[in-house]
Amino acid sequence: MKQLPALHWQILIGMFIGAAVGLPLNILADQGHVSPEWPRQVAFYGKAIGDLFLRLLSMIIAPLIFTSLVTGVTASGSLEGLGRMGLRTIVFYISTSMAAIVTGLILVNLIRPGVGADMAVLQAGAEPVAPAVLEGDGGVGSTLWNQLLNLIPPNPFAALADPTNRSILAVIFFSLLFGIFVVRVGGEHGKRLTDAFNAAFEVMMSLTMFIIRLAPVGVMGFMLYAAAGRGLGVFASLAWYMLTVFCGLAIHACITLPMLAALIARRSPRQFARDMAPALMTAFSTASSNGTLPLTMTCIEQRAGISNRVSSFVLPLGATINMDGTALYEAVAVLFIAQAYGSELTLAQQVIVAFTALLASIGAAGIPHAGTVMMVVVLRAVGLPLDAVGLILAVDRVLDMCRTAVNVWSDATAAAVIERVCQKRVT
Ligand code: ASP
Repeated sequence: MKQLPALHWQILIGMFIGAAVGLPLNILADQGHVSPEWPRQVAFYGKAIGDLFLRLLSMIIAPLIFTSLVTGVTASGSLEGLGRMGLRTIVFYISTSMAAIVTGLILVNLIRPGVGADMAVLQAGAEPVAPAVLEGDGGVGSTLWNQLLNLIPPNPFAALADPTNRSILAVIFFSLLFGIFVVRVGGEHGKRLTDAFNAAFEVMMSLTMFIIRLAPVGVMGFMLYAAAGRGLGVFASLAWYMLTVFCGLAIHACITLPMLAALIARRSPRQFARDMAPALMTAFSTASSNGTLPLTMTCIEQRAGISNRVSSFVLPLGATINMDGTALYEAVAVLFIAQAYGSELTLAQQVIVAFTALLASIGAAGIPHAGTVMMVVVLRAVGLPLDAVGLILAVDRVLDMCRTAVNVWSDATAAAVIERVCQKRVT
């Protein structure tokens, strides 16, 4: 039988087919050659296919994290080592997110995409903001507090049953505790449970690999949705804003993170990116770092050769709290909105933007558009109108795809760095 091309090629082909069908259809409809109903229908079916794939991935997230983390903790044995790894991971996550925000702030101050933006055009194209976007945010303090509360599940089984959003933090917390106590109990029981979790983890990995084979089709569906679903006109009015976000993301993804991978993790960034390609492309197409998590874990362990001990801890945590791309995007978007409204933010206000964008990115769930929803926290902190979010929703999908890929790339870089740093202490 003839062998199929490697998975990342298949995914790339899926993406290409989605874009090659969706974009021309959109242009033809724009020019009146075909009914606008056509791209809408195609987008609808594309999203349906993509959603099926995302559902399958969501299905395995909770058991995968649970078995993987317990296996990781029991394998590491030393709780002290685990604490050290946790601290380093969090320091790394906060530092890279801050670096991303500073990059975004510098660019948005240099390019100034909002100055002279045609508010009339923007407002005409603005989408109504769902009430959920405007509610439920109590500002910076409550974002942190909620995140802390989210750590402790009132019912771990309910958390395991609902892994689509922040309950992932609760799953991580419970799995860590469970693993730690398996080690503490030790003896015959500890051994039995360790063996059982090792076995369950093997099965979950195998199931994951099976589902991942469907990635090219799922990714094609999402690309169809993204390419056919939006009129092109709106992109023109927000071109400078989008360009600023793209440049910031590109600098972070192609310079800052690779430098860390090369200097601290001592890995060739090019080879590392190749190893992570299936996960990065899936993140790009699905715009969900939670959904991509099973692929990220598989790529990092099986292609990049990073240990389960590190990946099982660093990656699920990263998919939930480490979102460099989202943080950068929020800082740029808020300054763009301020510029468009003609209210330049002072340096002190920009510092507030930086810190609240960091918190908002930590609080954002790894699902599509979560970053935009959390932006309300940042807008509120500097007194900008909350419904300004509506102005930029129209182009959010494309930016979301890019920032999600950067989010996953940053998680992967963290895993490589932490593996290296923790290994050094052992040897
Ligand atoms: N979609 C992003 C993610 O899953 C979050 C965001 O909306 O920025 O990582």
